[in-house]
Amino acid sequence: MKDVIIIGGGPAGLTAAIYASRSGKSVLLFEKESYGGQISKSGLVENFPSQKAISGFEFSMNLYNQAKQFGCEFVKENVISVTDGEIKKVITAKNEYECRNVIFALGASPKKSGLPNEASLIGRGLSYCAHCDGNFFRKKDVAVIGGGSTALQDALYLSEICSKVYLIHRRNEFRGEAALVKRVTEKENIEIVYDSTLEAASGEPLLRSITVKNKNSGEEREISVSGLFLAIGQEPGTKGFESILPLDEYGYADVDESCKVKDGIYVCGDCRKKALRQLTTAVSDGSVAGASVE
Ligand code: NAP
Repeated sequence: MKDVIIIGGGPAGLTAAIYASRSGKSVLLFEKESYGGQISKSGLVENFPSQKAISGFEFSMNLYNQAKQFGCEFVKENVISVTDGEIKKVITAKNEYECRNVIFALGASPKKSGLPNEASLIGRGLSYCAHCDGNFFRKKDVAVIGGGSTALQDALYLSEICSKVYLIHRRNEFRGEAALVKRVTEKENIEIVYDSTLEAASGEPLLRSITVKNKNSGEEREISVSGLFLAIGQEPGTKGFESILPLDEYGYADVDESCKVKDGIYVCGDCRKKALRQLTTAVSDGSVAGASVE
């Protein structure tokens, strides 16, 4: 029997573990892949306040060690389901665990383009986060793929840092907010490439160009870019927990900044509905959830 079980070992879950275990609670944290989640695979973290530039992996290990130092225990198992009640059961393929509080820190993962060399280009020109990696492409040409509010915001953000931004969308109409569309169309260094799909990304070891195809004419165009930002949506990790977490239409936990679903059930980090998904907002949520179980 544990006081708290945390599902997910990204920055939100590990921060919740630091707060809960430091306050004397017994804490068990489940992670199915790597501690640190998305950030463990990022190149450099440059925008975490007061922290000098640090690799995503080192940042993750620091968080992990800090949680461990305060007594958090870790289990590398995939949680399949959680049953509610005064005593909650956390069920994996191998075992069942009991606790009084559950903190869901399930994260979200960016949708992939499906290009065969996508994985090898991550950190070598390809990124899923303009705010995290935009600065590495200062005064260079970059491309953003997508037509939602994230793609529009990313293009605007990058247009302040980069020389030129190609915004590539598969249709001739944006899905994102009208106010953002207006700002994007007014920016001189953003070129919108409508009705086009990403066919290839080339460069070894660093990205040098992309090839896009106009779906009406079939014409292909090679565009020289150093950076490629994919903003084609995210998948929150809430699948399988629909009966216990209230979800919005996109699958994010529809819970406010208290991170509280109800007494004993909390949700934090990127899997929660929010305006900005960053390390800072993840650890903010984690501290709220971790302190709440006190
Ligand atoms: P989104 O709204 O789902 O948009 C994803 C975009 O990527 C769509 O334009 C979609 O094209 C395109 N797309 C999807 N799969 C693709 C593929 N395989 N290849 C090429 N293009 C692909 O995702 P989002 O922009 O991340 O936004 C998610 C939610 O957060 C939305 O509710 C959004 O309003 C909200 N948000 C709000 C703000 C804000 O400031 N208010 C900022 C960011 C996000 P189609 O349009 O053709 O489907």
